[in-house]
Amino acid sequence: MKFSWFTLSLLSLILWANPALAGRLTHWQFDQRNHQLTFSTDGSVQPQAKLLANPSRLVIDLPGTTLSRPTVNQRVGGTIREVRIGQFDARTTRIVIELAPGYTINPAQVGFRGFTDQQWQVTLPEPERIDLSREPVMTLQNFQVTQNGFFVRLPGQPRATIQRSRDRQTIAVDLSGQTIPSNLQNQTVLINRYGVSTIQFQTHRILLAVPANSPDWRVAVGINGIAIVPTTGQPVLEGDRTTVPLPSSEPDVVVIPVPAPERTAPNPPPTPTAQPGDFRVPNARILAAIDPGHGGRDPGAIGIGGLREVDVVLPVSLSVARRLSAAGVSVMMTRSDDRFISLQERTAMANRSRANLFVSIHANAISMSRPDVNGVETFYFQGANSRQLATSIQQSILNQIPMNSRGVKQARFYVLRTASMPAVLVEVGFVTGAQDAPRLANPAFREEMAEAIANGILQYISQTR
Ligand SMILES: [Zn+2]
Repeated sequence: MKFSWFTLSLLSLILWANPALAGRLTHWQFDQRNHQLTFSTDGSVQPQAKLLANPSRLVIDLPGTTLSRPTVNQRVGGTIREVRIGQFDARTTRIVIELAPGYTINPAQVGFRGFTDQQWQVTLPEPERIDLSREPVMTLQNFQVTQNGFFVRLPGQPRATIQRSRDRQTIAVDLSGQTIPSNLQNQTVLINRYGVSTIQFQTHRILLAVPANSPDWRVAVGINGIAIVPTTGQPVLEGDRTTVPLPSSEPDVVVIPVPAPERTAPNPPPTPTAQPGDFRVPNARILAAIDPGHGGRDPGAIGIGGLREVDVVLPVSLSVARRLSAAGVSVMMTRSDDRFISLQERTAMANRSRANLFVSIHANAISMSRPDVNGVETFYFQGANSRQLATSIQQSILNQIPMNSRGVKQARFYVLRTASMPAVLVEVGFVTGAQDAPRLANPAFREEMAEAIANGILQYISQTR
């Protein structure tokens, strides 16, 4: 199996919880490649958000939402360090997206979207490097006096804590065991800037000599060093000159406005009860895995007028997912944009998430010399539940859309064999078919198809509960 990094980029976690009075966070997913968080709750929620500094992190609070689980930490990697989910207080679930050291995001570019009051999407802009050492006023090797304060270059991933002495005349910056560059060690530098008279470098510690009445200082951690900057933008007297208020390199808290949801979610259907060998968690909500076929470097079949399978199945799948969520079903997608995902990873994602059913969506093809072959067919591998899911979807499509039926069939497709839940593969028509191709190219038809597939899935859920 060829490794590709983005097969690992879709992190998701299903949070099963006991019924509670407040709304619960039922599902979240962080798409690393698109810096996109989606989450669902089973009660109405209006999130609150802010960006905090040091380290830069986006904090999303869900008032009136509980999480009956310990805190979850999910490592991400790259410019985003991790996603943490925990119970902030008795009535608030908190989601924290922490950026990698030395990175931040522009809070004005964080996009919140509530599809409903229970289904939210948060899009982060591309993280930017925090450049703490810009515009130096004075430079020594590994040390700069900048327009914000002082910058000390440190190797590795810098960490530091800061403390002011009881007599308020010394600011001590401790580097948690990291060593100060050798050219600075045991040096005392005369500064006379920002109210600081001298900076003394020890081995693991930096001492600033300040007047007792001067403002407090803080440490900002960057990618290749630390900045020691005044906490406030108050004017600082330095000798006989007055500097302008000092801008801090990163504000400590920026509140991010979150728009109201686009609409209110309908009441979810009654909670299905467990079926032996089918739904492992009693009274859990249903999680549907939707798998749009192909993607990225694999466009699938190519048919009449260059119609590509991949361009048909993604919009159909996204619409199926939206419709299921609107009906109160939790949904995970193996991909929600045009990217390559291996077959192995598709079922692995669904299995890991313990999805209750798996629906792969494809479009069919046969030779370009057979435009007479048209129609919809649905495959399953084995098992009464898989057959029932296939039948329910095939029937729903035929009830709603006049098109040729090629029937419900058994097939040994990889995704059907390796999914550990009822699994089907729907072929929504032939991109090489004279009747099907123009319809599959039509967005309105694809919406109809999505509605029919979603209805088939919902029918199956109601039959098997
Ligand atoms: Zn296909």
